[in-house]
Amino acid sequence: MGRYRKCAICGEDILPTDVAVPYKKRYVHDRCFNLEVKILTKNKTETLVEKEKERKSKKSKAKTKTELKDGMTEEEYVIKRKYFNYLKSLTDLTDDESLSVKQVAVTEMYIDRYNFTYEGMYDTLVYLNEIIHKDLTGDIVGIIPFYYSEAMKFQDELNEIEQKSKSFSFRGKYKTKVVKTNKAHTRKNYQPMDVLSVGE
Ligand SMILES: [Zn+2]
Repeated sequence: MGRYRKCAICGEDILPTDVAVPYKKRYVHDRCFNLEVKILTKNKTETLVEKEKERKSKKSKAKTKTELKDGMTEEEYVIKRKYFNYLKSLTDLTDDESLSVKQVAVTEMYIDRYNFTYEGMYDTLVYLNEIIHKDLTGDIVGIIPFYYSEAMKFQDELNEIEQKSKSFSFRGKYKTKVVKTNKAHTRKNYQPMDVLSVGE
């Protein structure tokens, strides 16, 4: 023994009765070669399939995000701007200063986590500042979740009143107020019962 070439794949002798094929500068059994090719092809295919899957999923994720961003209607964009502008007016900032990264990040977190909307958060800020005259300090956004549902309830009641007396819009009235800072508004204007009883 030992006078035969060894198969580079299985390590067994390549006998004169075997069919040998050259492989990586050595010789292998044709059956070993075929098996090797099969395995390599399978692995390669699997890798390609995996990569393709990965690529597609990344692409679709990126696409979804873009679509949401681009899919924002003009109305949604307007209310988003309105919310941030109002938030800015409540925060002690000059016209040149912009909202903090935290204020924007927290706002987006509320949308993701609590399903808040820009309109709802805008209404909450209006409610806090112009209806209950809450003393708002710091970055303001932190207080929103504590009053969101209360503000939504108030808003619903206002809408109901509006429906009852279409000629008189309270929502429009209190929203047209221009507010520079929350300090300008004091608690003495607080008359929620009068507001709610109108139109009854
Ligand atoms: Zn072999």
